[in-house]
Amino acid sequence: MVILKTARELKAMRNAGIISSRALREAGKAVEPGVSTLEIDTIVRNYIEKQGATPSFLGYGGFPASACISVNNVVIHGIPSKKTILKRGDIVSIDVGAYFEGYHGDNAWTFACGEVSEEAQALMNATRESLFEGIRQAKPGARTGDIGSAVQGYVEARSYSVVRDFVGHGVGAKLHEDPSVPNYGTQGHGVRLLPGMVIAIEPMVNQGSAKVRVLDDGWTTVTADGKLSAHFEHTVAITPDGPVIMTLPD
Ligand code: MG
Repeated sequence: MVILKTARELKAMRNAGIISSRALREAGKAVEPGVSTLEIDTIVRNYIEKQGATPSFLGYGGFPASACISVNNVVIHGIPSKKTILKRGDIVSIDVGAYFEGYHGDNAWTFACGEVSEEAQALMNATRESLFEGIRQAKPGARTGDIGSAVQGYVEARSYSVVRDFVGHGVGAKLHEDPSVPNYGTQGHGVRLLPGMVIAIEPMVNQGSAKVRVLDDGWTTVTADGKLSAHFEHTVAITPDGPVIMTLPD
């Protein structure tokens, strides 16, 4: 069931979104060669808790950390570890959510660790742009398929592939609400978007095939072919004036 938010709720969600985005920005600043993903996770957790909020992911379904940190061929749900030390040239996807005064914010960004290859930079750019292509479709009367089609079209035109095993979602008092927001689809199909809906749009884009697999830890999701993957996400409110990104820092 899709839960529509009132103006008051949207205001509260914006506050959760601001904390989420600032935590993500702090995490991004820490991406440097020699830093472990556990150190970045600690920065995220400390930042969120200092704001009087809680990390949305900590303990969610048993997830053991505050951020998902996914390096290179890891698509999503990478578990922060002191053994995972970032190297120059890595691409580092960080997914962060904060729960504040009853609502969640959810956002992700792929950061370059030092200078990265042209191929890696191009994948990151295309994934980021595909997110904004999707966001542009997020207006009343459109459908989730319009978002998915815009993302998929942008990505596939550049010969990358869109992950299908994981999708975007509604956000609110729960981290994952209806509807599902796939990063693929057909214009005019899917759930109709209404004012007051809040959704996370989150393209996961692979350099090679769309196929992914989950490692034995039950979380870490990697590309089946070992090639790179990038992930960008914003929480977006559907309003009569069009899409409003809830996870911008100011
Ligand atoms: Mg999400």
